[in-house]
Amino acid sequence: MFLAPFKHHRPTELSAVFEALAKYGDEAAVYAGGTELLLALKARVLRYEHLIDLKRVRELAGIKVDGEELVIGALATHHEIANSAVVKQHVPAYAALSEGIANIRVRSAGTLAGNLSFSEPHSDPPSLLAAMGASVTLVSPQARRSVPAAEFIVGEFTTVRNEDELIAEIRIPLTRAGEGYRYLKFGHLERPAVGASAGCIIRGGHTRYRLWLGALGDHPIHAAEVEDAIAGVPVALLPDVLPKLAVSFASKISATSDLHGSADYKQHLASVLMQRALAAACAAASGERVSHA
Ligand SMILES: Cc1cc2nc3c(=O)[nH]c(=O)nc-3n(C[C@H](O)[C@H](O)[C@H](O)COP(=O)(O)OP(=O)(O)OC[C@H]3O[C@@H](n4cnc5c(N)ncnc54)[C@H](O)[C@@H]3O)c2cc1C
Repeated sequence: MFLAPFKHHRPTELSAVFEALAKYGDEAAVYAGGTELLLALKARVLRYEHLIDLKRVRELAGIKVDGEELVIGALATHHEIANSAVVKQHVPAYAALSEGIANIRVRSAGTLAGNLSFSEPHSDPPSLLAAMGASVTLVSPQARRSVPAAEFIVGEFTTVRNEDELIAEIRIPLTRAGEGYRYLKFGHLERPAVGASAGCIIRGGHTRYRLWLGALGDHPIHAAEVEDAIAGVPVALLPDVLPKLAVSFASKISATSDLHGSADYKQHLASVLMQRALAAACAAASGERVSHA
Protein backbone atom coordinates (compact mmCIF):
# COMPACT_ATOMS: atom_id res chain seq x y z
CA MET A 1 0.00 0.00 0.00
CA PHE A 2 1.21 3.54 -0.83
CA LEU A 3 1.64 6.38 1.63
CA ALA A 4 -1.11 8.98 1.69
CA PRO A 5 0.19 12.44 0.65
CA PHE A 6 1.92 14.49 3.38
CA LYS A 7 4.08 17.58 3.74
CA HIS A 8 7.69 16.84 4.63
CA HIS A 9 9.66 19.05 7.04
CA ARG A 10 13.41 18.78 7.61
CA PRO A 11 14.39 21.09 10.47
CA THR A 12 18.00 21.36 11.60
CA GLU A 13 17.32 22.65 15.11
CA LEU A 14 15.20 21.38 17.99
CA SER A 15 13.49 24.77 18.32
CA ALA A 16 12.22 24.44 14.73
CA VAL A 17 10.88 20.93 15.48
CA PHE A 18 8.89 22.29 18.42
CA GLU A 19 7.63 25.21 16.31
CA ALA A 20 6.35 22.81 13.66
CA LEU A 21 4.73 20.56 16.27
CA ALA A 22 3.01 23.56 17.89
CA LYS A 23 1.82 24.82 14.51
CA TYR A 24 0.42 21.56 13.13
CA GLY A 25 -0.64 19.83 16.39
CA ASP A 26 -2.31 16.43 15.93
CA GLU A 27 -1.72 16.58 12.19
CA ALA A 28 2.06 16.24 12.64
CA ALA A 29 4.42 13.48 13.74
CA VAL A 30 8.19 13.33 14.10
CA TYR A 31 10.19 10.41 12.83
CA ALA A 32 13.84 9.29 12.79
CA GLY A 33 14.44 6.01 10.91
CA GLY A 34 10.79 5.66 9.93
CA THR A 35 10.95 1.86 10.35
CA GLU A 36 7.82 1.81 12.54
CA LEU A 37 6.08 5.00 11.52
CA LEU A 38 6.19 4.48 7.76
CA LEU A 39 4.81 0.94 8.09
CA ALA A 40 1.93 2.26 10.18
CA LEU A 41 1.29 5.05 7.65
CA LYS A 42 1.36 2.63 4.72
CA ALA A 43 -1.08 0.33 6.51
CA ARG A 44 -3.28 3.42 7.14
CA VAL A 45 -3.23 2.65 10.86
CA LEU A 46 -1.96 6.23 11.33
CA ARG A 47 -2.45 9.31 9.17
CA TYR A 48 -0.52 12.61 9.42
CA GLU A 49 -0.60 15.64 7.13
CA HIS A 50 2.90 16.69 8.24
CA LEU A 51 5.94 14.50 8.85
CA ILE A 52 8.90 16.06 10.63
CA ASP A 53 12.21 14.35 9.92
CA LEU A 54 14.53 14.58 12.96
CA LYS A 55 17.66 13.28 11.23
CA ARG A 56 19.25 16.70 10.65
CA VAL A 57 18.80 17.93 14.22
CA ARG A 58 22.35 17.81 15.48
CA GLU A 59 21.34 18.38 19.13
CA LEU A 60 19.85 14.84 19.06
CA ALA A 61 22.91 13.12 17.54
CA GLY A 62 25.90 11.32 18.98
CA ILE A 63 27.06 8.79 21.52
CA LYS A 64 29.38 9.89 24.32
CA VAL A 65 30.44 9.33 27.92
CA ASP A 66 29.34 12.01 30.40
CA GLY A 67 30.69 11.40 33.91
CA GLU A 68 29.44 8.01 35.07
CA GLU A 69 26.94 7.59 32.23
CA LEU A 70 26.88 6.64 28.57
CA VAL A 71 24.71 9.08 26.63
CA ILE A 72 22.97 7.77 23.50
CA GLY A 73 21.46 10.56 21.39
CA ALA A 74 17.95 10.11 20.01
CA LEU A 75 19.27 9.77 16.46
CA ALA A 76 21.68 6.89 17.23
CA THR A 77 20.66 3.80 15.27
CA HIS A 78 20.85 0.26 16.65
CA HIS A 79 23.69 -0.40 14.18
CA GLU A 80 25.71 2.61 15.37
CA ILE A 81 25.18 1.58 18.99
CA ALA A 82 26.18 -2.05 18.32
CA ASN A 83 29.36 -0.96 16.55
CA SER A 84 30.36 1.97 18.74
CA ALA A 85 33.73 1.43 20.43
CA VAL A 86 32.53 3.61 23.32
CA VAL A 87 29.40 1.50 23.89
CA LYS A 88 31.32 -1.77 23.58
CA GLN A 89 33.87 -0.59 26.12
CA HIS A 90 31.56 0.99 28.70
CA VAL A 91 28.25 -0.91 28.44
CA PRO A 92 29.13 -4.10 26.55
CA ALA A 93 25.84 -5.85 27.34
CA TYR A 94 23.88 -3.09 25.65
CA ALA A 95 26.11 -3.21 22.54
CA ALA A 96 25.47 -6.98 22.35
CA LEU A 97 21.70 -6.48 22.62
CA SER A 98 21.76 -3.92 19.79
CA GLU A 99 23.62 -6.34 17.53
CA GLY A 100 20.73 -8.83 17.91
CA ILE A 101 17.85 -6.48 17.08
CA ALA A 102 15.86 -7.29 13.93
CA ASN A 103 17.93 -7.42 10.73
CA ILE A 104 20.67 -5.20 9.32
CA ARG A 105 18.18 -3.11 7.31
CA VAL A 106 16.10 -2.24 10.40
CA ARG A 107 19.20 -1.80 12.59
CA SER A 108 20.76 0.60 10.09
CA ALA A 109 17.78 2.97 10.03
CA GLY A 110 15.94 2.31 13.31
CA THR A 111 16.86 4.26 16.43
CA LEU A 112 16.73 3.34 20.10
CA ALA A 113 14.63 6.47 20.75
CA GLY A 114 12.14 5.42 18.05
CA ASN A 115 11.96 1.93 19.53
CA LEU A 116 11.17 3.28 23.02
CA SER A 117 8.73 5.93 21.77
CA PHE A 118 6.75 3.41 19.75
CA SER A 119 6.78 0.91 22.68
CA GLU A 120 5.72 -2.14 20.69
CA PRO A 121 5.71 -4.82 23.41
CA HIS A 122 7.81 -7.35 21.44
CA SER A 123 10.93 -5.26 21.80
CA ASP A 124 14.44 -5.97 23.10
CA PRO A 125 15.82 -2.78 24.73
CA PRO A 126 13.33 -1.90 27.52
CA SER A 127 14.03 -4.76 29.96
CA LEU A 128 17.83 -4.40 29.78
CA LEU A 129 17.67 -0.60 30.11
CA ALA A 130 15.53 -1.12 33.23
CA ALA A 131 17.93 -3.71 34.66
CA MET A 132 20.90 -1.39 34.05
CA GLY A 133 19.24 1.55 35.79
CA ALA A 134 19.12 3.65 32.60
CA SER A 135 17.04 6.80 32.16
CA VAL A 136 15.28 8.55 29.29
CA THR A 137 15.72 12.32 28.90
CA LEU A 138 12.63 14.11 27.60
CA VAL A 139 12.64 17.68 26.27
CA SER A 140 9.79 20.07 25.59
CA PRO A 141 9.92 23.76 24.65
CA GLN A 142 9.62 24.58 28.36
CA ALA A 143 11.55 21.89 30.22
CA ARG A 144 13.86 18.93 30.31
CA ARG A 145 13.18 15.94 32.59
CA SER A 146 14.66 12.51 33.26
CA VAL A 147 12.48 9.40 33.60
CA PRO A 148 13.84 6.04 34.81
CA ALA A 149 13.73 3.58 31.89
CA ALA A 150 11.94 1.20 34.27
CA GLU A 151 8.99 3.63 34.36
CA PHE A 152 9.02 4.90 30.77
CA ILE A 153 6.75 2.30 29.15
CA VAL A 154 3.33 2.03 30.75
CA GLY A 155 1.47 -0.11 28.22
CA GLU A 156 1.18 -1.28 24.64
CA PHE A 157 2.21 1.67 22.42
CA THR A 158 1.96 3.91 25.50
CA THR A 159 4.71 5.73 27.40
CA VAL A 160 4.90 8.50 30.00
CA ARG A 161 6.05 10.95 27.28
CA ASN A 162 3.74 13.95 26.95
CA GLU A 163 2.62 15.05 23.49
CA ASP A 164 4.83 18.14 23.53
CA GLU A 165 7.93 16.15 24.54
CA LEU A 166 10.62 14.44 22.50
CA ILE A 167 13.22 11.91 23.60
CA ALA A 168 16.53 13.77 23.55
CA GLU A 169 18.78 10.98 24.81
CA ILE A 170 19.03 7.74 26.75
CA ARG A 171 21.53 7.56 29.64
CA ILE A 172 23.00 4.24 30.83
CA PRO A 173 25.27 3.99 33.90
CA LEU A 174 28.74 2.76 32.91
CA THR A 175 29.32 -0.88 33.76
CA ARG A 176 31.99 -1.02 36.46
CA ALA A 177 34.41 -3.80 37.39
CA GLY A 178 32.49 -6.31 39.52
CA GLU A 179 29.26 -5.75 37.56
CA GLY A 180 27.87 -7.79 34.71
CA TYR A 181 24.69 -7.57 32.64
CA ARG A 182 23.20 -9.84 30.04
CA TYR A 183 20.15 -9.93 27.79
CA LEU A 184 18.90 -13.22 26.33
CA LYS A 185 15.90 -13.76 24.13
CA PHE A 186 14.05 -16.42 22.24
CA GLY A 187 11.62 -16.13 19.39
CA HIS A 188 10.64 -17.75 16.13
CA LEU A 189 9.50 -14.54 14.42
CA GLU A 190 11.59 -11.41 13.79
CA ARG A 191 10.81 -9.86 17.17
CA PRO A 192 11.41 -11.57 20.52
CA ALA A 193 8.74 -13.86 22.00
CA VAL A 194 10.35 -13.39 25.42
CA GLY A 195 13.46 -11.54 26.59
CA ALA A 196 15.21 -11.72 29.96
CA SER A 197 17.66 -9.17 31.33
CA ALA A 198 19.88 -9.80 34.31
CA GLY A 199 22.41 -7.87 36.32
CA CYS A 200 24.94 -9.14 38.84
CA ILE A 201 26.65 -6.58 41.09
CA ILE A 202 29.43 -7.85 43.33
CA ARG A 203 30.64 -5.31 45.92
CA GLY A 204 32.91 -6.13 48.85
CA GLY A 205 31.82 -9.76 49.05
CA HIS A 206 28.10 -8.93 48.85
CA THR A 207 26.15 -9.70 45.68
CA ARG A 208 22.98 -8.05 44.42
CA TYR A 209 21.03 -9.13 41.37
CA ARG A 210 18.66 -7.49 38.91
CA LEU A 211 16.05 -9.34 36.87
CA TRP A 212 13.63 -7.92 34.31
CA LEU A 213 11.54 -9.63 31.64
CA GLY A 214 10.38 -8.25 28.31
CA ALA A 215 7.81 -9.02 25.59
CA LEU A 216 5.57 -11.13 27.83
CA GLY A 217 2.89 -8.51 28.30
CA ASP A 218 2.38 -4.87 27.43
CA HIS A 219 5.30 -3.53 29.48
CA PRO A 220 8.58 -4.84 30.99
CA ILE A 221 8.14 -6.93 34.14
CA HIS A 222 10.35 -6.56 37.21
CA ALA A 223 11.06 -9.89 38.93
CA ALA A 224 11.43 -8.01 42.22
CA GLU A 225 10.39 -10.90 44.46
CA VAL A 226 13.09 -13.13 42.91
CA GLU A 227 15.69 -10.35 43.31
CA ASP A 228 14.73 -9.96 46.99
CA ALA A 229 14.87 -13.70 47.62
CA ILE A 230 18.37 -14.09 46.17
CA ALA A 231 19.91 -10.82 47.42
CA GLY A 232 23.18 -11.67 49.13
CA VAL A 233 23.18 -15.30 47.99
CA PRO A 234 26.68 -16.06 46.67
CA VAL A 235 26.87 -16.66 42.93
CA ALA A 236 28.05 -20.25 43.45
CA LEU A 237 24.88 -21.07 45.41
CA LEU A 238 22.40 -19.59 42.91
CA PRO A 239 21.79 -22.94 41.13
CA ASP A 240 20.47 -24.29 44.47
CA VAL A 241 17.77 -21.66 44.89
CA LEU A 242 17.07 -19.89 41.59
CA PRO A 243 15.35 -22.63 39.54
CA LYS A 244 12.41 -23.00 41.94
CA LEU A 245 12.04 -19.23 42.40
CA ALA A 246 12.19 -18.59 38.64
CA VAL A 247 9.56 -21.23 37.83
CA SER A 248 7.27 -19.97 40.60
CA PHE A 249 7.61 -16.31 39.53
CA ALA A 250 7.12 -17.07 35.82
CA SER A 251 3.99 -19.14 36.52
CA LYS A 252 2.35 -16.05 38.06
CA ILE A 253 3.07 -13.71 35.12
CA SER A 254 0.00 -12.69 33.17
CA ALA A 255 1.55 -13.32 29.74
CA THR A 256 -0.22 -12.50 26.48
CA SER A 257 -1.00 -15.38 24.09
CA ASP A 258 -0.31 -14.23 20.53
CA LEU A 259 1.50 -15.17 17.30
CA HIS A 260 4.75 -15.42 19.25
CA GLY A 261 3.45 -18.19 21.51
CA SER A 262 0.90 -19.18 24.10
CA ALA A 263 0.96 -17.71 27.60
CA ASP A 264 2.22 -20.91 29.24
CA TYR A 265 4.93 -21.36 26.58
CA LYS A 266 6.13 -17.80 27.29
CA GLN A 267 6.07 -18.44 31.05
CA HIS A 268 8.29 -21.47 30.50
CA LEU A 269 10.69 -19.48 28.32
CA ALA A 270 10.79 -16.74 30.96
CA SER A 271 11.79 -19.14 33.74
CA VAL A 272 14.58 -20.67 31.63
CA LEU A 273 15.89 -17.38 30.22
CA MET A 274 15.95 -15.72 33.65
CA GLN A 275 18.27 -18.40 34.97
CA ARG A 276 20.54 -18.39 31.92
CA ALA A 277 20.73 -14.59 31.76
CA LEU A 278 21.64 -14.35 35.44
CA ALA A 279 24.34 -17.01 35.11
CA ALA A 280 25.79 -15.13 32.11
CA ALA A 281 25.61 -11.78 33.95
CA CYS A 282 27.47 -13.26 36.91
CA ALA A 283 30.14 -14.75 34.63
CA ALA A 284 30.58 -11.29 33.11
CA ALA A 285 30.75 -9.70 36.57
CA SER A 286 33.51 -12.00 37.75
CA GLY A 287 35.45 -12.48 34.54
CA GLU A 288 35.03 -9.49 32.29
CA ARG A 289 37.58 -6.74 32.70
CA VAL A 290 35.86 -3.42 32.07
CA SER A 291 38.20 -0.44 31.95
CA HIS A 292 37.10 3.18 31.79
CA ALA A 293 39.53 5.84 30.66
C1 LIG B 1 10.81 -5.93 10.41
C2 LIG B 1 11.09 -5.38 11.78
C3 LIG B 1 11.70 -6.16 12.74
C4 LIG B 1 11.95 -5.66 14.01
N1 LIG B 1 12.54 -6.47 14.95
C5 LIG B 1 12.81 -5.96 16.17
C6 LIG B 1 13.46 -6.77 17.15
O1 LIG B 1 13.82 -7.92 16.93
N2 LIG B 1 13.68 -6.21 18.38
C7 LIG B 1 13.32 -4.92 18.67
O2 LIG B 1 13.56 -4.46 19.78
N3 LIG B 1 12.74 -4.14 17.74
C8 LIG B 1 12.48 -4.62 16.51
N4 LIG B 1 11.89 -3.82 15.59
C9 LIG B 1 11.54 -2.45 15.97
C10 LIG B 1 12.71 -1.49 15.67
O3 LIG B 1 13.62 -1.53 16.74
C11 LIG B 1 12.09 -0.13 15.53
O4 LIG B 1 11.33 -0.17 14.32
C12 LIG B 1 13.06 1.04 15.44
O5 LIG B 1 13.96 1.10 16.50
C13 LIG B 1 12.24 2.33 15.45
O6 LIG B 1 13.13 3.42 15.29
P1 LIG B 1 12.87 4.49 14.16
O7 LIG B 1 13.91 5.53 14.33
O8 LIG B 1 12.78 3.85 12.81
O9 LIG B 1 11.42 5.02 14.61
P2 LIG B 1 10.38 5.79 13.69
O10 LIG B 1 9.62 4.82 12.87
O11 LIG B 1 11.05 6.95 13.04
O12 LIG B 1 9.44 6.36 14.85
C14 LIG B 1 8.71 5.44 15.65
C15 LIG B 1 7.85 6.25 16.63
O13 LIG B 1 8.68 6.95 17.53
C16 LIG B 1 8.45 8.36 17.44
N5 LIG B 1 9.75 8.98 17.60
C17 LIG B 1 10.89 8.74 16.89
N6 LIG B 1 11.91 9.43 17.44
C18 LIG B 1 11.41 10.13 18.49
C19 LIG B 1 11.98 11.01 19.45
N7 LIG B 1 13.27 11.36 19.48
N8 LIG B 1 11.17 11.51 20.42
C20 LIG B 1 9.85 11.19 20.45
N9 LIG B 1 9.26 10.36 19.58
C21 LIG B 1 10.04 9.83 18.60
C22 LIG B 1 7.76 8.59 16.08
O14 LIG B 1 6.92 9.71 16.11
C23 LIG B 1 6.98 7.30 15.93
O15 LIG B 1 5.76 7.37 16.62
C24 LIG B 1 11.61 -4.31 14.32
C25 LIG B 1 11.02 -3.49 13.34
C26 LIG B 1 10.76 -4.01 12.08
C27 LIG B 1 10.12 -3.12 11.05
